[in-house]
Amino acid sequence: MVGAGPAGSAAAVHLARAGVDVMLLEKSGFPREKVCGDGLTPRAVHQLVRLGIDIDAPGWMRNKGMRWVCGGHRAELDWPRLGAFPDFGLTRSRHDFDDLLATHATATGARLRTNVKVTGPLTDRAGQVIGVTASHGPGAEPVRYLAPLVVAADGASARTALGLGLERDAKRPVAAAARRYYRSAARTHDPYLELWADLRCPRTGLDLPGYGWVFPMGDGRVNVGLGALPQQRRRRPVDLRAALDHWLPRLPEEWDVNEGSADSPLRSAPLPMGLNRRPQYRRGLLLVGDSAGMVSPWSGEGIAQAMEAAEVAAEIIALALARPAGPRREHALHHYPAEIQRRWARYYRLGNVAGDLLFSRFGYRPLLHPRVMASPHLLRVLARLLTHVSDEPAQDTIDAVLHSLLRLVPVPRR
Ligand SMILES: Cc1cc2nc3c(=O)[nH]c(=O)nc-3n(C[C@H](O)[C@H](O)[C@H](O)COP(=O)(O)OP(=O)(O)OC[C@H]3O[C@@H](n4cnc5c(N)ncnc54)[C@H](O)[C@@H]3O)c2cc1C
Repeated sequence: MVGAGPAGSAAAVHLARAGVDVMLLEKSGFPREKVCGDGLTPRAVHQLVRLGIDIDAPGWMRNKGMRWVCGGHRAELDWPRLGAFPDFGLTRSRHDFDDLLATHATATGARLRTNVKVTGPLTDRAGQVIGVTASHGPGAEPVRYLAPLVVAADGASARTALGLGLERDAKRPVAAAARRYYRSAARTHDPYLELWADLRCPRTGLDLPGYGWVFPMGDGRVNVGLGALPQQRRRRPVDLRAALDHWLPRLPEEWDVNEGSADSPLRSAPLPMGLNRRPQYRRGLLLVGDSAGMVSPWSGEGIAQAMEAAEVAAEIIALALARPAGPRREHALHHYPAEIQRRWARYYRLGNVAGDLLFSRFGYRPLLHPRVMASPHLLRVLARLLTHVSDEPAQDTIDAVLHSLLRLVPVPRR
């Protein structure tokens, strides 16, 4: 397993539980920072419960839903009451979250090696992946790890996938996001994840092709940030720092979100989205999470998606390893991209279209039209669409409408 972020640690837990001998290689040491909004929707909570993480322990901050702010209107969208998903979300700093998940993976039986930077896949003469090359420790000593299968969970850099020639789809835009922590007694216990959809890019005067967020951390801080697609009309990345500086003075003064209350530097990172790297399996290497561009093009959320794909990959690996090495095992492993396609391709494809036609041009403003903001029913549809939570089979009209909509989307060829 290359990388001990949510994708790698979740896959390690599921594999170790299935009795597979698994080694997690991580270039950093824990705990460590990861640039993120730290927001977990019910989809992510669902995965944490499946992993056996104690979400009632101290340190988790629960939320009831999202609050969207746009054009002088604000609307609270409670997480839906569904059979398949919890009706609450969470926040937890990635500093704690990733450490907790990696520790859980080791407690489940996985072996974790930190300060090991994987430099590429190791292949045999036939081009089959048989392990990885890496460098270890401050002296960067070269090391090799042999394994019958390798999972690339190394995030947006996707170094391992690139080493096997798996380039990202250049037609798919890569969004960028930036975040900063502020101390805000007024907002740290907000029961909602707050999102602003009417932000502007000060340099161009155009709408931000994304949104801003203020997420309560429950520890005296808020996580404030912006995520944006490249500006469609200019084909240039947005200046996130300038957009943040332009936005913050609009926040109520009593929130105390300003330079004086900043608790960290502003940091940014890419958001590889829309399933932009495929196939997700090739010659002994499986891609999971950001390394496969699994961030949702609807919301910019990537943690739940990484953990879900990790569970699917782990199940397929465990089944494949029960077969002898060779064509029969390969056949089982090729089921992984097929399963990703079956579960999520339509949702991502529709999201990619929405990204191209809507978000990259006008941001989220059209979705949050005053009529939508005033309609509790439409807001409920929007909450499920943006975060991909619904019951399957459908339990109510909203689920039925969303499933019918997705069924109309042609499945892309692999
Ligand atoms: C500013 C910002 C805000 C975001 N907000 C949210 C949010 O609120 N909610 C949400 O769900 N998603 C959010 N995302 C997306 C989310 O952070 C990612 O989708 C998620 O972290 C993907 O998990 P991963 O395990 O695939 O990759 P990562 O979390 O990037 O983990 C990859 C791991 O691999 C390690 N690694 C990398 N290269 C190597 C190597 N060569 N050798 C060994 N180890 C290596 C890294 O150190 C890291 O630990 C945000 C992203 C950004 C940039």
